[in-house]
Amino acid sequence: MRITGYKSHGVAAAAALVNAVTSADEDDSPDALRRVLRDHEFFWHEFEDADAPAFRHWARTLRTFFEATRLEDATELLNRLMLEIPMHPHLSDHEPHGLHMHYAPPSSRLPDRFRATTLMNLAELVVEHGLGRTGVCAAEGCDRVYADTSRAGRRRFCSEACANRTNVAAFRARRRT
Ligand SMILES: [Zn+2]
Repeated sequence: MRITGYKSHGVAAAAALVNAVTSADEDDSPDALRRVLRDHEFFWHEFEDADAPAFRHWARTLRTFFEATRLEDATELLNRLMLEIPMHPHLSDHEPHGLHMHYAPPSSRLPDRFRATTLMNLAELVVEHGLGRTGVCAAEGCDRVYADTSRAGRRRFCSEACANRTNVAAFRARRRT
């Protein structure tokens, strides 16, 4: 399975949406949500301000997945959501992605398409890696989530900033002892 690029763009989009909506210092305004979609190559120009509540609700749902520490809990949640979210898998060949899977019914509006894609991409990630690629940032005081689609897959922080801050603190603690 290719874990970078279009096939799994829903994974990074899911983490970005969760952070935009549920993180203490983030911004869940319609413009911020539009930016999440644009940054992750979803059809952001179809986003209407009235869609914001649907995206916020989905972010809070997905946060539960990122916080799950037991694989059984995560798979139970994903399975339940796969029954709830309208699904109609089909192949699509539009630019700029070439042939790829769409998961929502063809007539769906953006919120349903976003739900279906992020859900299926997260499910594929779990099939491949269990919960080893997603989680809540390990930095003290940070509530942001991360999703790791890199080859190495060793990520434990939401950002370089949190990784560096934690490493510096650990270094100082070692020097004190
Ligand atoms: Zn962090």
